Parts: sequence; C-alpha cells; structure tokens
Amino acid sequence: MDQKRQKLKKKNMQVINDLNLKKQARDLGVKVWQTPGFMFIMLGVIAIVIMSAVFLISQNYDDPEILVLAESFVVIVILIVGNSVISMVTQVTKLNRMKSEFVSVASHQLRTPLSAIKWETELLLSKCRRRVVGDKQRQSIENINTLSIKMTHLINDLLDVARIDQHRLIIKKIPTDIIAVAKDSIKEAQSLAKKRHIELALSAPRKLPAVLADPEKLQMVVENLLNNSIKYTTNHGKIELKLTKKDALIIFNIKDSGVGIPAEQQNRIFDKFFRSDNIVKYQTEGTGLGLYIAKNIIEQMGGRIWFESVENLGSIFSFSIPISKQKE
Ligand code: ADP
Repeated sequence: MDQKRQKLKKKNMQVINDLNLKKQARDLGVKVWQTPGFMFIMLGVIAIVIMSAVFLISQNYDDPEILVLAESFVVIVILIVGNSVISMVTQVTKLNRMKSEFVSVASHQLRTPLSAIKWETELLLSKCRRRVVGDKQRQSIENINTLSIKMTHLINDLLDVARIDQHRLIIKKIPTDIIAVAKDSIKEAQSLAKKRHIELALSAPRKLPAVLADPEKLQMVVENLLNNSIKYTTNHGKIELKLTKKDALIIFNIKDSGVGIPAEQQNRIFDKFFRSDNIVKYQTEGTGLGLYIAKNIIEQMGGRIWFESVENLGSIFSFSIPISKQKE
C-alpha cells in the first residue's frame, strides 16, 4: 500500500516538474519561451484559438474555400511550431553527444599523466619506507597518493558515464557467485566502516545459484551501494546486507540506519550528478555519479534497482539480478 502511494507521489512530482517551465528552462539553460514545454502549450493554445475562430467564422459563410484556407493555416502554424521543437531537440541531442565525446577524450587524456603521478608517488613512498625522507615529507607524499587515487576513481566514473551515454558500456554476462561478490565488497569496505564505527553484517543462505552478471561491474555496484550506506550513516549504526532467492532472481538488499533521503527528492536519486540537500551540507565528497552508473549496469545485466528511504531513519537500496541457467 505504502509502495503504491509512493509510486503515485513520484508520478505526481514528475507531472509537476514537467509543468514547471522555469525549472525546465534552468535545467536546459534556455529562456522560458524556448523550452519544449512552453512551445507545446503554445501549440495547443494556437490550435484551440484558430479552431474556435474557424468555427465561428464558418457559421457566417457557406463557402467551403474559406474553411479549407483556415484549416491550411492551422496546419502551417502547427508545422512551423513543430519544426522549431524538432530542431531544438536535434540541437540538444547534438550538444549532448559532443559533450559526452569531450568528457571521454578529456578523461582519457587525464588518465595518462595521472598514472604517471601515481607511479612516481608510489616510488617515493617505497623510498620513504627506507627512511630517505622525514615524516612530514612522507605524510605529504601519502596525501598526494590518496588524492591521485581519488582522481583516478573520478576519471573512471566519468569514462563510464560517457560510455553509458554513447551506448558503449560493455557488460559481460557470465555465471557469477554473488555471495563471493558480497563478501569481497564487505572486505573492501571494512576499513571505512571501522573508521566510522559501523558494523557490517551479511545474511545469505549457505548456497545460492550463480547469477548471470559481469563480476567486476557487479562488485563495483555493490561497493558503491555499501560505501554510500557507510558515508551517509552518522550514528555508528549497523548495515545489513541480505541476499535472497525469488523465482528466477536473486534479490540483494543493503539496509542502513543513516540520514535517509528527503521524500521530495527521491524521484531524482538516479539522475546524473544528483546529490540530495540533506547530505551536501556535511558530506562534501561525492559526485552523484555512482547511482546513475549502478542503475545502468544493473539494467544492462537484466536486473532492476530501487530503494525505500525515510529521512533521518535510513534507507534500503535493493537490486535484482537474473539467475544463470548455465552451469557455473
Ligand atoms: P555520491 O554518493 O557520490 O554523491 P551517488 O550517485 O552514489 O553519488 O548517490 C547520489 C545521492 O543519493 C547521494 O549524494 C545521496 O544524496 C543519495 N544517497 C545514496 N545512497 C544513500 C544512502 N544510503 N543514504 C542516504 N542518501 C543516499
């Protein structure tokens, strides 16, 4: 019942957003009268006005030529407005393609010098271990190393987003042990969880059938969801990972007792670069790309991703993934 109400609420929000021309103009970076929404409304208004005028005028004339002329006029107006909407959409699509190509080229170019920086800092760090430099210098080199790792992650995310936008993201589909993926992800996230005094618990049947997935990408998704749960839990809570089998699917739930997501922003959570208001104040680190990438990966593997969340109480992020029919 609650889920139905939430879905209805999300739909209503979508309609409100579609009607909000100011917001549309802001999002597209154009004037209000240039938004597709405004043009469609104008098209409707013009059609209604002209049709009514034709109806009123035609009552006084028996001549069918006037009717034909008036109707031709309506068709021309509709064609002109329709054409400007189409050319605007074409322009936006072209710009979007150019933008993803730019992101892709720039990220590739950035990766090479960054790899060199990482390599050099690792070399310096290995020298530090041999006590060639002092503690302060070692700390600085460690900071550079950490920052270059963060930058590499960001660049990899940008490359994935560009691949998704250009429909070039390659996903393997092989039988994958999802319990192993969950355990490896917990291992990776353990140090961050310990730092924040958060307990990670996995509940899964002793054996589960293999899923049809790309193991590396699946682990990336689980790690992203788990890291989010840790990042957005401030009260030393517990995070529960749960695996269950449902018909031909495996369902993966990650439940936290964190800050949750404000109801009015829940419909935008899988949007590119979106970060909710309640977390940007205290958690400055983050790009808003993780969930966008996760959604695309899961859907390309034939699954679905969703969540339930209550602000200040916590969230449950879930995804489904098809069971493999092949032998492992
Ligand atoms: P990032 O974490 O880098 O900001 P994501 O795409 O992974 O980007 O997440 C998008 C946004 O979704 C986050 O900024 C946050 O507002 C919200 N979010 C995701 N997971 C959680 C969670 N477990 N609890 C609360 N908010 C979350």
